[in-house]
Amino acid sequence: MAIDVPVRPLLVPGATIGILGSGQLGRMLAMAAARLGVKCHIYAPEPGPAFDVAADFTLASYEDEAALAAFADKVAVVTYEFENVPARAAEVLAAHCPVLPDWNALATSQDRLTEKQFINSLGIATAPFAQVDDAGSLARAVAQIGRPAILKTRRFGYDGKGQTAIRDGSDLAVQFRSLGGVPCILEGLVPFLREISVIAARAADGSFAAFDVCENEHEHHILAATHVPAKVSADTAAQAIHIVHRILDGLKYIGVIAVEMFIVEEQQADGSKRERVIVNEIAPRVHNSGHWTIDGATTSQFEQHIRAICGWPLGSTHRHGRIEMRNLIGEDTNLWRDLMGESGACVHLYGKHEARAGRKMGHVTRILPEE
Ligand code: AMP
Repeated sequence: MAIDVPVRPLLVPGATIGILGSGQLGRMLAMAAARLGVKCHIYAPEPGPAFDVAADFTLASYEDEAALAAFADKVAVVTYEFENVPARAAEVLAAHCPVLPDWNALATSQDRLTEKQFINSLGIATAPFAQVDDAGSLARAVAQIGRPAILKTRRFGYDGKGQTAIRDGSDLAVQFRSLGGVPCILEGLVPFLREISVIAARAADGSFAAFDVCENEHEHHILAATHVPAKVSADTAAQAIHIVHRILDGLKYIGVIAVEMFIVEEQQADGSKRERVIVNEIAPRVHNSGHWTIDGATTSQFEQHIRAICGWPLGSTHRHGRIEMRNLIGEDTNLWRDLMGESGACVHLYGKHEARAGRKMGHVTRILPEE
C-alpha cells in the first residue's frame, strides 16, 4: 500500500502526539512524553492503563474512520504501542498526519512470513521456515523442516498465543485446525543457548542508538525477567546490535524497535565453539524487555521513542549498573507492599484492577553493582 506521508514538521514541546492503544506501553510512553512537555491523546477501542495518564483519549474502534480522522486532526504525529493496527486504519490516519514508524515497518512485522523474508533478504539468519496454508502444505513443510518444529499463525500471535509444537506422532490436520485453519508458517526449532533482545532507535536524520543487549527469561511463553548486560561475548553483542542497525536502515525506520534473537552455540571444525545470532522476531515499538531503561539508563526507551518521532536528537543510552527487571504477572502484584519496602527496588504498577493469571500488572527493576 503506498501512502503519501505529509511533510513532517519538527515538533516543539507543547505539541500533542497520538498513540494507538491504551495498554501499559502507551501509559509509559505518555509519562515519558509528559516529562518532555509533550501531551498525549490515546486512541483505543477499550479503556486501559494509558487513559489514566493522558491529556485526552478517544474510545472508538479501529474501523471507525470518522473517529480516526477526527483524532488525527488533533495531533501532530501518530504512533502506536502495538503492531496489529489494521491497514485501513493506518491509511486513514496517514492521510491526515504522519504515522511513525510508517506503514511499511508495521506491515512487514505484522506477518511472520513477510518479516522473515525481509530479514533473510538482508542476509540475516532466522530459524528455517516454510509457508503453510492448509494441512497439505503443512505435510510438505514438515518434510522440508523436520520435527520437532513450531507451527505459528502468520498474524496476531503474542506471548506464545497462536503457536503449537509439531512433534513425532503429531496429527498434522488436527494441529493445523487447532490454530483456526488460518495461514501459518512452520519454523524449525532453534536449539538456543540464550534469548536476547536489542532495543534501538533510529531518528529522522538516520542516526542510530542502541541500548545494551538484554537477556530474557520466559515462563509459559511470557517474559518473566530481563538481565542486562546479556551474558554474551563482546563480539556477539556487537553482531546483534549491527543486525538491528541494518534492519532499521532497511526499513528507513523512525522510532524505537525491539528485535528478539536467539543465541546458538556452534562447534567449529577445530573443535572450538562460536556464538551465532539468529533473529526470532521484530516488534516495531517499545518493548517489555526495555522497561529497565526507565530506571537504569540515562534515556528510557519511551523517551527515546518520543524524541525520534518528534524529530529530536536521540538521547544517551548509557546504562547505570547491572540490571535485573522482573515482571509482576497476575498475583505477583500482591507483593507490591514488600517491594516498596525494599531499598533500591524501582516499582512500577500499571493501575490494572483485575490481577488475572498471565496478565502483566507491573514490573520491578533492580540496579545492581557491575560484576
Ligand atoms: P514468539 O512469539 O515467536 O516470540 O515465540 C515465543 C517464544 O517461543 C520465544 O521467546 C521462544 O522461547 C520460543 N520459540 C519461538 N520460536 C522458536 C523457535 N523457532 N525455536 C525455538 N524456540 C522458539
